[in-house]
Amino acid sequence: MKLSTKILIGLISGVIVGLILGAVGAVGFATNIIKPFGSMFLNLIKMIIVPLVFASLVVGASSVGDVSKLGRMGGKTIVYYLVTTAFAVTIGIILANIIQPGSSMQLAEGLTFEGKEAPGIVETILNIVPKNPIAAMADGKMLQIIVFALFVGVAITLVGKKAEQVKGFFDGFAEVMYKITAIVMELAPYGVFALIVPVVAENGPSVLLPLLKIILVVYLGCLLHALIVYSFTVKGLGKMSLKDFYKGILPAQVVAFSTCSSSGTLPVTMKCAEDNLGVSKETASFVLPLGATINMDGSALYQGACAIFIAQVYGLDLTLGQQLTVVLTGTLASIGAAGVPGAGLIILTMVLKSVGLPLEGLALIAGIDRVLDMARTTLNITGDSSCAVVVDASEKRREAQINTDAGVSS
Ligand code: ASP
Repeated sequence: MKLSTKILIGLISGVIVGLILGAVGAVGFATNIIKPFGSMFLNLIKMIIVPLVFASLVVGASSVGDVSKLGRMGGKTIVYYLVTTAFAVTIGIILANIIQPGSSMQLAEGLTFEGKEAPGIVETILNIVPKNPIAAMADGKMLQIIVFALFVGVAITLVGKKAEQVKGFFDGFAEVMYKITAIVMELAPYGVFALIVPVVAENGPSVLLPLLKIILVVYLGCLLHALIVYSFTVKGLGKMSLKDFYKGILPAQVVAFSTCSSSGTLPVTMKCAEDNLGVSKETASFVLPLGATINMDGSALYQGACAIFIAQVYGLDLTLGQQLTVVLTGTLASIGAAGVPGAGLIILTMVLKSVGLPLEGLALIAGIDRVLDMARTTLNITGDSSCAVVVDASEKRREAQINTDAGVSS
């Protein structure tokens, strides 16, 4: 049986077992006995992230060959990420305006929420340059690791021959990390099962029903974004059929859905992009680690939908200007969010503050955030993969064009 089929079976049987355990009142069994196996699987994937991101970005940046090509690829990647993210927030806002998830909701008395505050935008930007790259790696600060890796990669290119051994080392090191990923993935069907059972058991229908409408908005929004935006980009720009695309990244999507972490899913996303979508290693190792940290279409969509939802619950009307502010801060906030579970809820404070919405509204969402996280993380890594397909196709077209031009002139 193919691994992706096995992972899917793990997911579906996890949902069924979770529902049964929840219904018979055996939530404790799910939480105490099954969950640790899921955490173990998560730790195994997390173990690979920092070394993999660092090594693959160094290789990605240094194997592009010349700095101008790197700049071009980087430019395309960033533009793609920003535009699709802004679309995502907008879809979230529009759907929440249509479905009105918060209008009929009774505001619970004495709602309080003590969340960590998200850092401001200036602080986020300042923080991306690491004072100490080793500390950044030890703390898993992905943006800082990315910046340092890009410096190392570019410098390797500039140094040239003398740095060949350094490049060779990182190349081999990244391969070793891919191999570990492949080994860990053999456990994925069981890991996914163990991760999903406690989530379903703990968040059974009784927790979900009152908030069904906002769940609907986020899930429907993610689905629409995946169908509309990516069919335009993957099919239109990347010249790949949506069927091949979704078939290829399904294993990564299931892992994202059950781990709620795009960074954690990165090794799998890279494997799927290269092996199933035919994205070149050069593009994948540059676009995907960047995307796992800065590109979050799902999280952005969720920011838009939740901001409107909270405004509706409190009976506040957001003007068009305020809704545009949500698009802007939602896009920027999703860049600053780490690809770890629950990050979106923390950065939602930034969005709510920007338009003066009550932060207590977060308490409404906090209880079901995990369920929303599953959808948004899945969309997050889908967006990263779509960018890899688009950038790769455009680079390949460019190379083909240069080759034909060279053929014509010689
Ligand atoms: N869990 C998401 C991710 O890792 C981030 C978020 O919470 O929105 O992609």
